Amino acid sequence: PNNYKVTVVGSGNWGSVAAKLIASNTLKLYFFHDEVRMWVFEETLANGAKLSEVINQTNENVKYLPGVKLGKNVVADPDLEHAVRDANMLVFVTPHQFMEGICKRLIGKIKNDAEAISLIKGMEVKMEGPCVISTLISEQLGINCCVLMGANIANEIAVEKFSEATVGYRGNKEIADRWVQLFNHPYFMVSAVQDVEGVELCGTLKNVVAIAAGFVDGLEMGNNTKAAIMRIGLREMRAFSKLLFSSVEDSTFFESCGVADIITTCLGGRNRKCAEAFARHGGKRTFDELEAEMLQGQKLQGVSTAKEVYEVLRHRGWLELFPLFSTVHEICSGHLPPSAIVEYSEHTPKFS
Ligand code: NAD
Ligand code: 13P
Repeated sequence: PNNYKVTVVGSGNWGSVAAKLIASNTLKLYFFHDEVRMWVFEETLANGAKLSEVINQTNENVKYLPGVKLGKNVVADPDLEHAVRDANMLVFVTPHQFMEGICKRLIGKIKNDAEAISLIKGMEVKMEGPCVISTLISEQLGINCCVLMGANIANEIAVEKFSEATVGYRGNKEIADRWVQLFNHPYFMVSAVQDVEGVELCGTLKNVVAIAAGFVDGLEMGNNTKAAIMRIGLREMRAFSKLLFSSVEDSTFFESCGVADIITTCLGGRNRKCAEAFARHGGKRTFDELEAEMLQGQKLQGVSTAKEVYEVLRHRGWLELFPLFSTVHEICSGHLPPSAIVEYSEHTPKFS
């Protein structure tokens, strides 16, 4: 078609910003249909109003992105099946733990030739092994799925501060270019690389590193220690990604999805913030409590990702190769104190 219809599946903090960004482009580019549908996981606000109705009345996601107009052509839709029915392009952007259930609900409900992209940073671990979210989407729905990851703290992009992002694609460059056109903006520079697994694993694994960086902040260990954690984390990200997928390219780690996302998330992300609080409380408060208290309904991805990564490492006998990743999970699960984050270095593995 030359009138591609776009639906955003998800309307949290990043989901709302993605809808805003996309909606400004669909108005400008003739080959996209102007209206952007945004599926809203319905909830009732403290004043009794329905979130989706308030979004449509005020053009603002008052819960997850207050104070930012989304664009009049964004339509909030609480009915998942209705929201996706006519879409040619599906943008998935929910916390990763909800995707399996959402995919199940979408089977047989989308267009056969729809294209998908995932902005979701996370993974699932199944009996057969680890499964990145784009694979979950592709396999469950029988459609192609690219990814978009990068140094993208949503609240900064919401107020149009410059950043970059990386689209990861497999094979079809024409489709990747269409996704780049949908997202690219003078304040949001997108480039595409043919390494979907590498890009997605960067976005997924950096959340584990961000938890480690938050511990270091909570322990007041300073900038050198934090930089060391970021470097070691990046090295484990690369080693883990390449062990899982031999196709992963070194160059991907120098894109926005790699080193740049590590930096921004370890400086300003939600995972970092909650992990700092966890360390300050000496591990006496749980992440679930801190998330509920500090994030007002937004979700952390790093704690569950650390657990998922740990399961893969344990299952494959790789725990000793990844001391940073495994220590993060052992701290999050209460088996080690936060200070252990800098005590594993004597066991540092020998990969380069
Ligand atoms: P969020 O953290 O704001 O999560 C809240 C969303 O989850 C809300 O829309 C809520 O309605 C929804 N939700 C709650 N329970 C649900 C359920 N049972 N089923 C379905 N949905 C439910 O979400 P976000 O910030 O948009 O993050 C989505 C993804 O994007 C994550 O993987 C995250 O890592 C990634 N991401 C986030 C940012 C950021 O700065 N926020 C930046 C880049 C990538
Ligand atoms: P947090 O979920 O830790 O806020 O990270 C956001 C992000 O992915 C920035 O690119």
